[in-house]
Amino acid sequence: MATRKPLISGNWKMNLNHFEAIQLVQKLSYGLTKDDIDAVDVSIHPPFTDIRSVQTVLEADKIPIALGAQNCHWEVKGAFTGEIAPSMLAKLNVTYVICGHSERRELMGETNEMVNKKIKAITKAEMTAIMACGETLEQREAGEVESHLTTQLTEGLAGVKADTVASMVIAYEPIWAIGTGVTATPEDAQDTCKLVRKTVEDLYNKATADSVRIQYGGSVKPGTAPELMSQPDIDGALIGGAALSAEDFAHCIQYRLR
Ligand code: PEP
Repeated sequence: MATRKPLISGNWKMNLNHFEAIQLVQKLSYGLTKDDIDAVDVSIHPPFTDIRSVQTVLEADKIPIALGAQNCHWEVKGAFTGEIAPSMLAKLNVTYVICGHSERRELMGETNEMVNKKIKAITKAEMTAIMACGETLEQREAGEVESHLTTQLTEGLAGVKADTVASMVIAYEPIWAIGTGVTATPEDAQDTCKLVRKTVEDLYNKATADSVRIQYGGSVKPGTAPELMSQPDIDGALIGGAALSAEDFAHCIQYRLR
């Protein structure tokens, strides 16, 4: 089986201006050791207006944290007021771009088809897509987790090549656990991440499924990270609230020590 280096990603959502962003990055870098970064890949996803400032600090201080974005458009350029092209992010040395976050799906009407176009555009711009998927509480209670995730993955990954999927990241985020303080149990999170991996195997092949990194997201905190991260099909975490505290985010990254 492929060895997958865990990826812990901090999604700041619409929080922190560029001054606050710089402070958080510096504080975070003081809290991390070389061993932490050797064992785990780390990415931070600030709002667009902070990206240039964060890039400057990461590069000037040689902080080994990857820069990420929370979204982008799929077109290369043009009349798309308020949107950001993938190449603009790549130029700022952005490595990872989240697409299909449930907040964008629910609040901004992002569809599987749009997610699909974004994954292709992100890949073309030589960045890595973090594709988010997950079910609502109603879908879980109705026993629709498998059919919902299969649809999200089948439509979201349509026409995406196997080698792209093998090197990308899928974030399984049950919507009922995001920002609610309710975390899926490690067993439930493992079962569903295993299901995601099996779906990738059915859509592609075993090698692709063994290679893709699957994050769990939904109220991950320093106290819950160790058990979640010890599950065999969980290769990292997408973290919202706890990523806004340098101390909590560092402790999540250091889950092995806890
Ligand atoms: C998220 O932003 O994707 C997320 C999981 O948020 P939180 O950790 O706050 O639930």
